[in-house]
Amino acid sequence: MGNEKKIKFCSKCGSTNLGIVTTPWKARGGPISQEYKCEDCGVEMTAFDGDEEFLAEFRKKLAEKE
Ligand SMILES: [Zn+2]
Repeated sequence: MGNEKKIKFCSKCGSTNLGIVTTPWKARGGPISQEYKCEDCGVEMTAFDGDEEFLAEFRKKLAEKE
């Protein structure tokens, strides 16, 4: 058992600088999928969830795309 820490990050740019989006109309019924707003690129999305390694890998792929 490691002590892996889960990090939430933007699925667009990999930033961990996220704010929570409150959508009451969505929360009324069914499973709630929490959405976040990226403070860096301004996108609202369902944040990715992973450990530091996953985030590093994700950022590497983003860098390759440019
Ligand atoms: Zn972002």
